Amino acid sequence: QQQIQLVSRPEGMPVKEDFLYKEIDVPQPSNGEVLVKTIYLSVDPYMRGRMSDAKSYVEPFKLNEALAGGVVGEIVESKSAHFQKGDFVVGMLPWQEYSVAKEKEVRTIDPDVAPISTYLSILGMTGLTAYFGLMDIGQPKEGETVVVSGAAGAVGSVVGQIAKIQGARVVGIAGSDEKVSYLTDTLGFDEGINYKTTDNIYKTLKEACPDGIDVYFENVGGEIGDAALSLLNKHARIPVCGAISSYNKTDRDLGPRVQSRLIKSSALMKGFVVNDYNDRFKEGATKLGEWLSQGKLQYEETITEGLDNVTDAFLGLFQGKNIGKQLVKIAEP
Ligand code: NDP
Repeated sequence: QQQIQLVSRPEGMPVKEDFLYKEIDVPQPSNGEVLVKTIYLSVDPYMRGRMSDAKSYVEPFKLNEALAGGVVGEIVESKSAHFQKGDFVVGMLPWQEYSVAKEKEVRTIDPDVAPISTYLSILGMTGLTAYFGLMDIGQPKEGETVVVSGAAGAVGSVVGQIAKIQGARVVGIAGSDEKVSYLTDTLGFDEGINYKTTDNIYKTLKEACPDGIDVYFENVGGEIGDAALSLLNKHARIPVCGAISSYNKTDRDLGPRVQSRLIKSSALMKGFVVNDYNDRFKEGATKLGEWLSQGKLQYEETITEGLDNVTDAFLGLFQGKNIGKQLVKIAEP
């Protein structure tokens, strides 16, 4: 079987030569372990951070070892009393076709509740990120204006919809006309902005937010973030979830220079990682599942086929190729 390894630390945008497809043996499970066939594999922007050796909230990937991330798979052999052959599971596993996992490294998922891919998207890490970042830090109220960047992506698309459920007016910022139509026509956002075709994002955003901004859910940073932070209302909240525009920068990024605006608006700007909410994942997943079954939430997945295309799918995140959650399908269940 094939395994995808990181063989050099990218400088700027990663290139194909940073990755190596290596032939390895299918591992054998020992007592208390299971053999998992990878069905869906998640590629995520945060993985770019782990490819550098800078200290962060997750350990850097090791060179000449497999990359790893969220995987939905099927148990094909079990040496554990807790799992049976044929069970579907989710866990953090290496980028390869078959992996051995210890009992506590995977968790069973129910394919009757929702399609198994959703445990890596709306019911998984990105859905939970949207839920906790928006509900705990953003706390949108009825009639308020919520702006979300990276709006057509996995996290952003859920943020905007939850804000609508809370009765807010929602403006989404994304990188193509197709994405903007998706936000307004399919997801029910009130307005969408294509940041790539506007020559003045501040002015365009100001026009879209005549009453100012009460919640800015930050996914991208850079000029888009600066524009949003310049339009904050009194007591605005800014969950800082991501800054994808800076992930491939080689020079030191500038911080937001909006201190005076934060002061004047008595705003709360708070960074977070989804794992801050580990002990509340059940609550978040239950709520997202309810909204999904009630038809209040929609989701999109961009599914690339085959292990051969995993690195392309990962790089595509930085080129805006995905709508909703980017996944790679490795095998049929
Ligand atoms: P997305 O599905 O949103 O994919 C990334 C998207 O980012 C692309 O589709 C692209 O859309 C946009 N993008 C890429 N480069 C730029 C750029 N230079 N400027 C503006 N937009 C850009 O990914 P996720 O939903 O998984 O993640 C969204 C953000 O949330 C990321 O910053 C990620 O790191 C962060 N995150 C944080 C977590 C946490 O725990 N704090 C957990 C999960 C994600 P477009 O066409 O619109 O440019």
